[in-house]
Amino acid sequence: MAEERKPRILYMEDDPGLARLFERKMAKLDYEIVLARDGQEGLQRYVEEGPFDILLVDYQMPVYDGLQVLRKLPEGDARPGVIMLTGAGNEEVAVEAMKMGALDYLQKDLDGRYFQLLPVVIDEAVKRTRLEQEKRRMQAELKRYAAELERSNKELQQFAYVVSHDLKEPLHTIRGFAKFLEENCGAQLDAQSREFLGYIMEGSQRMERLIEGLLDYSRVKFNELKLTRVESEKLVKQVIQDLKSTISRRNAQITYDTLPTIQGNERMLLRLFQNLIDNAIKYCREAVPQVHISAEKHDGVWEFGVRDNGIGIDPKHAERIFIIFQRLHSANEFAGDGLGLAICKKIVENHKGEIWVKSRRGKGSTFYFTIPDKENAHA
Ligand code: ADP
Repeated sequence: MAEERKPRILYMEDDPGLARLFERKMAKLDYEIVLARDGQEGLQRYVEEGPFDILLVDYQMPVYDGLQVLRKLPEGDARPGVIMLTGAGNEEVAVEAMKMGALDYLQKDLDGRYFQLLPVVIDEAVKRTRLEQEKRRMQAELKRYAAELERSNKELQQFAYVVSHDLKEPLHTIRGFAKFLEENCGAQLDAQSREFLGYIMEGSQRMERLIEGLLDYSRVKFNELKLTRVESEKLVKQVIQDLKSTISRRNAQITYDTLPTIQGNERMLLRLFQNLIDNAIKYCREAVPQVHISAEKHDGVWEFGVRDNGIGIDPKHAERIFIIFQRLHSANEFAGDGLGLAICKKIVENHKGEIWVKSRRGKGSTFYFTIPDKENAHA
């Protein structure tokens, strides 16, 4: 909220009689008025005694006229609203003043109407100026917020990269020496020690996969994302081709509707479909995993669905599964590292879309995601 202080008016007027009359007329109203005898003094007071909400500028003044004052007014966020006071027959001055950003103008006809109108015009101008100032303040805040968000995102990405990169080194040492022990001293070790050594090897292998995953996740950078026209049906066909051996091993059936052409990053969208279809086959205990890919258009977005007949997900976990390293199963039950859906979410959100799941345990799942329909944005 804008703070409720008295509106401040800087009035530049070279006629002392008019200035005094103005002060008297405005005395009853709740304004703070600063007077200046000419444009030069006005500009000085503007700089030294600002900020002001309203500048009331007489056009005809010695040294600088009203338009010159407008030209010389320093730029700034809290620019006041300007009302130009012109003499009769000065319409072109009024037009010029408005072109230069003045809010309003008023003719000094001196027949009383002028002083009646002035408080109304000022009141209106104060309201407009305050709104304008509030808008500018909010825009500046938004800009600062966006810059801060971008900075912290970059920092986080860098952090994930550095940490995962640096973790690799001690891990290599552990794996190297465990391997050395196994190869060179394996024969001297009893069965239990060999078993423990196996756990060390297994654990470090898993850790290496997680670190690789984290590195992979932090590498998914989108600032330089290149968007092109992508035929999503082609992508799905490509995924089916890439997952050929999994599909035939699991005896899976993959079907799809006619799928649209969208604007997106081809490599990332391929990965999105790949992760979702791969999961749909993986998290299924049926003899024939069935996966269906659909697309529907709603209010400017394409909504894709990847439906399966798998084990389903308890709705209480519907949000958690999109967080990095969050899994609902042990690695023994279903292999995986808990990265796939986190990457999917990053990809979709960087296309300015959303991703969610509808599912119940034992009833299959449908993963939905949206991609803005930029193809037809101008239709
Ligand atoms: P990962 O598959 O490597 O565990 P994901 O991030 O892809 O990692 O998935 C996170 C978790 O969400 C999985 O561990 C699984 O419990 C659940 N999940 C993902 N896809 C499905 C699906 N189609 N059906 C049932 N559960 C799923």
